[in-house]
Amino acid sequence: MRIHVLYTGGTIGMTPTARGLAPGADLHGWLEGVAAGSGTPVTVSDLAPLIDSSMATPDDWQAIVDALRARRTSADAFVVLHGTDTMAFSAAAVSFALTDFDTPVIFTGSQLPLGAAGSDAAANVSHALEAAAHEASGVSLCFGNLLLQGNRATKASSWAFDGFASPTAPALARVGAPWQWGAAPALGCGWRDPAPYRRCDIAVVTMAPGITAARVRAALDPAPEAVIVRAYGAGNVPACEPGLVDAFAQAIEAGAPVIVTSQCPQAAIEVGRYATSDALGRAGAVGAGDMTFEATYAKVAFLLSQDVHGADLAAWIPRSIAGEIGA
Ligand code: ASP
Repeated sequence: MRIHVLYTGGTIGMTPTARGLAPGADLHGWLEGVAAGSGTPVTVSDLAPLIDSSMATPDDWQAIVDALRARRTSADAFVVLHGTDTMAFSAAAVSFALTDFDTPVIFTGSQLPLGAAGSDAAANVSHALEAAAHEASGVSLCFGNLLLQGNRATKASSWAFDGFASPTAPALARVGAPWQWGAAPALGCGWRDPAPYRRCDIAVVTMAPGITAARVRAALDPAPEAVIVRAYGAGNVPACEPGLVDAFAQAIEAGAPVIVTSQCPQAAIEVGRYATSDALGRAGAVGAGDMTFEATYAKVAFLLSQDVHGADLAAWIPRSIAGEIGA
């Protein structure tokens, strides 16, 4: 079993500086020790520059995809060390771009730097290596005591060692002695020869009590390529605010798909279930089903990067490309 570790940055390899935590630890030396302890020989490479994942863009997603594809024949499994802040976005993005990839990819990171007392870094990396050795399939995310499908995961805590959850899909495995393995990850229809990710203009508009139509109109000007609404509950918006639904309707008429997600971590969007979402649905907005916000955002960026726009993009939202959405 040849495991390659791709280090992209994140708290795991950070050290304290005068301006806060930043990458700089001897991660390679440390990793050799962890790998030796787990009995798994690994090779390691770094993405340059190492980043705090809060700075990640679709270019960084593509850099991960390219690095994995470049080593496709020289490894049997990959572990990607990544910051926790946007790990779920990257895992989802990589899952869309690598549906033809038969080598498992496991994302992990840590809440505390590897050198900090009581750090979760060694445990998380050991678990990810163990998942890799078991050939966990597809793109997954291993953190705390859970192995999750990468495109169903969400960062649930900024401090807890069990920092990730998968609110609408069961865990792939629970770490323990022995591990408890669940069902295999869901698959989708896949995507042949995907074009690289590009920087897209996606407007994310969050509903809050008292939000005005003027604020929504301002968020949609200049016209974005796509709109993601962070609605309430099952997809509801304050439809009584004069002009608010019209602002989204105008965006659709201008060619931008409007995708409705929920602020609830665990949600199944049903546009039209309530009168407060009915007008959005009649205007052509489409619900994101039970997808996480992270998977929805990465999916919209993926589709725009494939030159899929407007109503065509909206039609792809309920279709599973990489197992990111439930039936
Ligand atoms: N800001 C860090 C990052 O996402 C947080 C972490 O890694 O836990 O890179």
